[in-house]
Amino acid sequence: MQRFQAFRFELMPNGQQERQMRRFAGACRFVYNKALALQKERHERGEKKLGYAGLCKLLTEWRNDAETAWLAEAPIHPLQQKLKDLERAYSNFFAKRADFPHFKKKGQSDSFRYPDSKQIKLDQGNNRIFLPKLGWLRYRNSRKVVGAVKNVTISANGGKWFISIQTKREVKPAIPVGGAVGIDMGIARFATLSDGTFYAPLNSFRRHEERLRKAQQAMSRKVKFSNNWKKAKARVQRIHSRIGNTRRDFLHKASTAISKNHAMVFVEDLQVRNMSKSTAGTADAPGRNVRAKSGLNKSILDQGWREFRRQLEYKLAWNGGRLIIVPPQNTSRTCPCCGHVSADNRPTQAWFACVDCGFEDNADVIGAINILSRGMQLLRDEGRDTTDASVGMRADWLPVSARMACGSNLVGGRKQEPAETTAHGFIHA
Ligand SMILES: [Zn+2]
Repeated sequence: MQRFQAFRFELMPNGQQERQMRRFAGACRFVYNKALALQKERHERGEKKLGYAGLCKLLTEWRNDAETAWLAEAPIHPLQQKLKDLERAYSNFFAKRADFPHFKKKGQSDSFRYPDSKQIKLDQGNNRIFLPKLGWLRYRNSRKVVGAVKNVTISANGGKWFISIQTKREVKPAIPVGGAVGIDMGIARFATLSDGTFYAPLNSFRRHEERLRKAQQAMSRKVKFSNNWKKAKARVQRIHSRIGNTRRDFLHKASTAISKNHAMVFVEDLQVRNMSKSTAGTADAPGRNVRAKSGLNKSILDQGWREFRRQLEYKLAWNGGRLIIVPPQNTSRTCPCCGHVSADNRPTQAWFACVDCGFEDNADVIGAINILSRGMQLLRDEGRDTTDASVGMRADWLPVSARMACGSNLVGGRKQEPAETTAHGFIHA
């Protein structure tokens, strides 16, 4: 089994290298924006979009053109990589996975990638890496890089430079440990598991919100591009990157713990993009309140969910487990005891109380249990044998009173095989 892994380090460039990296990032941004503008023009004229090969040919022309000859100072592969990125942005847009490609601004995802491993030399013993047109770059060596280097990405964040080294290596297929679990993602609690455990809200932003707001205000009072403005801007960037680090750390810890202890994880298809759309309104009529609501806080939350799912997926795969996406259907309104579906089952955002049988519990746990049982049903519908699965459900989740009130052992409106809650072992997927 092949395992891809990224190792991220802080770079320690000298002055010359730092200036060059800034220049290369600028050249990459320029090429991306120029190509995007060109594609837009072609579209307006009713012409077909240029393919990657066509764009590469243009790039060569730009590098030879006296007006944009400075592009030739930047390494060619990272520039071409930007054209590939643009291609991907277009196909993501056409597949409705992303918004229409945006023009890139300075200071906004300043990054570039060296895709050709033959041009990269990693010297871990001396804490340095060789890259075309940059030479030997020193980095803060905090962990051993394992596997064959495939490519590297250089990025700037909060006034610092980072390198992400992607590697590939062969590993023995892992045997998954643990049972199946459903996860409900929310705002009051970031993630709630069907076994009752939960992760605190993703509020790393809120804690820094006040400081960020003050720093932003201070920046707006300064004369633009003055020295004090630059200092204030650096401070805003530092707070932003601290928020990012805290969030990354939180997500990694949660996704590692869950993927280590479960062979199968079910999550709801959130349609993250649509969720942020609904608060953002339309591009034509954003509205003031709507705009505030859909601000940074919201987008960070969306990113958090998306990133969490991405991490769960690859970490589960490393451990031989699987992430399964369950279509969202009344998971928050269905009684796991009697199967009754009603919006009235949710007297408050946090509490679930079935109007039919009286079963009560924390609403997020109910959601997670419903996601789990829906996922198990999905597997049975696919013809999988799930009788051997141990299901991560809280031991006391069905109080005796509720069970008596229901008179049956229904989960999510379907009869549950008794083996599921008692057998130990993992699902044979
Ligand atoms: Zn009920």
